[in-house]
Amino acid sequence: MRTTAFHLVTRKETPQDAEIISHQLMIRAGLIRKLGAGLYTWTPLGLRVLQKVENIIREEMNVAGALEMLMPAVQPKELWQETGRIEDFGGQLLAIRDRAERDYFFGPTHEEVITDFVRHEVNSYKQLPINFYQIQTKFRDEIRPRFGVMRSREFIMKDAYSFHLSQESLETTYQAMKQTYTNIINRIGLEFRCVLADSGAIGGSGSQEFHVIADSGEDAIMYSDTGEYAANLEKCEAVSLLSERATPQQALEKVHTPEQKSIDAVSQFLQVEATQTIKTLLVEGIDEPVALVVRGDHSLNEVKANNLTSVASPLRMLNDDEIKQLTGCDAGSIGVKDLNCHIIVDRTVANMSDFICGANETNYHFTGVNWERDASYHIVEDIRDAQVGDPSPDGLGTLQVARGIEVGHIFQLGSKYSEAMNAVVLNEQGKSQAMEMGCYGMGVTRMVAAAIEQNHDDKGIIWPANIAPFSVAILPMNYQKSERVKRAADELYKALTAAGIEVILDDRKVRPGFMMSDFELLGIPHQVIIGDRALDENNVEYRSRVNMETTKVSRDIIEAHLKEKVQA
Ligand code: ATP
Ligand code: MG
Repeated sequence: MRTTAFHLVTRKETPQDAEIISHQLMIRAGLIRKLGAGLYTWTPLGLRVLQKVENIIREEMNVAGALEMLMPAVQPKELWQETGRIEDFGGQLLAIRDRAERDYFFGPTHEEVITDFVRHEVNSYKQLPINFYQIQTKFRDEIRPRFGVMRSREFIMKDAYSFHLSQESLETTYQAMKQTYTNIINRIGLEFRCVLADSGAIGGSGSQEFHVIADSGEDAIMYSDTGEYAANLEKCEAVSLLSERATPQQALEKVHTPEQKSIDAVSQFLQVEATQTIKTLLVEGIDEPVALVVRGDHSLNEVKANNLTSVASPLRMLNDDEIKQLTGCDAGSIGVKDLNCHIIVDRTVANMSDFICGANETNYHFTGVNWERDASYHIVEDIRDAQVGDPSPDGLGTLQVARGIEVGHIFQLGSKYSEAMNAVVLNEQGKSQAMEMGCYGMGVTRMVAAAIEQNHDDKGIIWPANIAPFSVAILPMNYQKSERVKRAADELYKALTAAGIEVILDDRKVRPGFMMSDFELLGIPHQVIIGDRALDENNVEYRSRVNMETTKVSRDIIEAHLKEKVQA
């Protein structure tokens, strides 16, 4: 490709709404352009990268025996009524109405559509197991679309759905997909981690996410420093930090704590550690309000809380009026003694003794509170965020944290959808049986942003070789004026193109400095600078975008040199 025959529009300025580096670089390098909130155009340059990612995914899915298909993006509302998921997806669903007043959603995911397809197509165990996939545009009306294509509203996902007669067969395909995801991200060339995950609105019995490790990642990944355990913070099990409950030492005492509303304020005022206090959070419950109690220095894990059967979903904290009505006090003085609601305590809290909590009377706290003697709870649950330094839940090592970008999520769904939608087959005994199901999502557009987030420097993008829009850039100095430079550049371009290497030749009439910084920004892995001075000695310059080292290479061997670099 010659730049004059291509569309290359780079920008010097960083766009104002671009908070993270990948978003900034994607706009500056001209890979994407914004159309509206969470809506982006992929330029010819950006599409080259996107299609490479797509092709790697497609190849690996095919190797794993999955079958590519394509379902409609627009889905009849009735399908979603069969599974009752409209509420689970809430405001993320984009509703559409046709001229006959029929209701549709623009698909955020395709469990319903594939299950409908399969219930009509598959009726015997002999057709199982089977794994379908598509690479397609999804729409989710995200509350906060941001970070460019990292969290957009319209995006491309590879989604696969497998169907089985038994849980055992599902397990086999699930493990195969896990391996396939590992192969895909390795081929793209990114550092990642596979972690235990919450299944959210997709549901099912268990799931794992694939995270590209990057400081800007929205998710916290907890992992053991010496063991294998790794989980999204949303899911990470938090063990009790107290192995057993000590016998009470202190008497219960009510103390005046004027205007001390936060845990920090109260513990400072009373000159105790926050670890001696508890925090009582009141949330809406299914039948009655629920108190969720964590140690003062711990934070409530909202995903775990939302998953509790007695807690209303989505999680909602009681407001000041509701708190006052229930407890008679302000939010800063809620406590567990004589609290009239369903009380759920965290594992660590259940083992505390002589602790401090609000007195359910504004500006008062209790000290020396002990379970059984002074207060009681209904049930113990794991409801806090795990913290760095906690023992790993599998008993091996200590938890550490890293930031991750979720690029893939694989689920064991069991019969959730097949039962709701009556997707059955006849088994070997000729009896009707609901199919077991798995689903496997991968963010194709997000993967490109994640790749940049992990591979850049202050000059621009450093593309991993397998997804670079071009492998080689030929940068002639004075192409328009020097006949000799032009000839050398054209010859090399022809030879590399003939060898099947993707090469871009910058034949624009621009200053050398401008050209150089453009290609630093664009991140083409291998760059050849051709100028009169080097040509005097029959040389050209080779530069690697990774380390920006420039070496002189004889014209006689530059072609072989590049072929070797590109294949490496
Ligand atoms: P997130 O937690 O980031 O909102 P999710 O759990 O809702 O994602 P899944 O339903 O598991 O996402 O979708 C499969 C994959 O699709 C995700 O792993 C992610 O890579 C991608 N994806 C999901 N939402 C978006 C989005 N708004 N923009 C870009 N990619 C997305
Ligand atoms: Mg997910």
